[in-house]
Amino acid sequence: MPDTLSSKQTIVETAQRLVEKGYLMATGGNLSLRVTGQEAFAVTPSNYDYNKMTAADVCILDFNLSLLEGHLKPSVEAAMHAAIYQVRPDVNAIIHTHQAYASALTLIKAPIPALFDEQARFLGRSVEIIPYAPSGTGFLKNTVAKHVKNHNNAFMMQNHGALVFGHDMERAIHNVEILEKCALAYLLALCTERPVSKIPLAVREIAFAKLRGDQRKAEKGLPVKGGE
Ligand code: 13P
Ligand code: ZN
Repeated sequence: MPDTLSSKQTIVETAQRLVEKGYLMATGGNLSLRVTGQEAFAVTPSNYDYNKMTAADVCILDFNLSLLEGHLKPSVEAAMHAAIYQVRPDVNAIIHTHQAYASALTLIKAPIPALFDEQARFLGRSVEIIPYAPSGTGFLKNTVAKHVKNHNNAFMMQNHGALVFGHDMERAIHNVEILEKCALAYLLALCTERPVSKIPLAVREIAFAKLRGDQRKAEKGLPVKGGE
């Protein structure tokens, strides 16, 4: 498997960047990357200090969750990551965080409607709440697999945290940041108890069509541009 070392390095570098930016706290969350050209993905080990993590600690699993490479127990959400790769061929990177503002919205079960142009362009039509199921269970995996088929690239799991996708890891990181900005702005707006305005539906649809264009390219293995 020639590509696994670079996949593992991307996982470690991304995890450490997300710790530095405050999106990953303690050992919460997990992330994965599809291994190019293989029926396999690289995923963070379970309950492991991100700052101590090296490429050798990252697990390579196939979609039946057999451990192909690695010496540690894979994330308890590995089955959820595998299920997402199987139902979303456009997704090549998945980040699950317990980021604070998106997590707060899950507690009041408040999906984020289309509030900003860049939200619709990169995250999709809305950021839905996926109903509660306990972490690391088949219930959560099945519920998530059902909800993510709608082509959105960010979701919030009730009483848990965020789930964000990208056609590559850079886009997934970008989407984590956009989600947290939208979640904070929406929470602040809700606190005023004044009506919250949304972007016009036509603008949302134009932006979402651009995201779908990216996804169709990614599905075919074609390069995706930065995104305007
Ligand atoms: P892992 O450390 O096993 O990835 O679990 C963390 C988590 O966020 C579970 O939802
Ligand atoms: Zn979690």
